[in-house]
Amino acid sequence: MDCPHQPQPLVAGEHHGHAYAGCDACGGRFIGKGLLHDALGHARDGALRRERLEALPASAVRCPADGQTMHAAVHEGIEIDVCPQCDGVWLDAGEFEAITQRRKARQRRKDDDEPPEDDDSSDGELIEGVVEFVGEALGAIFDVF
Ligand SMILES: [Zn+2]
Ligand SMILES: [Zn+2]
Repeated sequence: MDCPHQPQPLVAGEHHGHAYAGCDACGGRFIGKGLLHDALGHARDGALRRERLEALPASAVRCPADGQTMHAAVHEGIEIDVCPQCDGVWLDAGEFEAITQRRKARQRRKDDDEPPEDDDSSDGELIEGVVEFVGEALGAIFDVF
């Protein structure tokens, strides 16, 4: 599986049994269907889901897993690219970064009294936060429209 932006094989990672893949060249990440299954579990009405996904503007990014044109969803000002075929999600490095920064800011506001933690988040922890965000975004697309 190659990066959609350049001929660079994606490096597979794993978090709690869920697979994701990252590009060492551009820093983009692909989060596969397995990881998003739970987030999407309540919104699996196939026809409706597909209709809403395809109503989103087409993205310049093609799914690294199956080559489908992805659709661009914007949630809280951050764009995520979603594949209509496999539910995979592509995040450019800047989008990934924006989500993790936002999560950290949110966390800091929550524990105002706590001393700031060292920034030693593992890739897996970052992915967990990103998956949560993507789950919210997809929930908004499939349920709230
Ligand atoms: Zn890349
Ligand atoms: Zn796909």
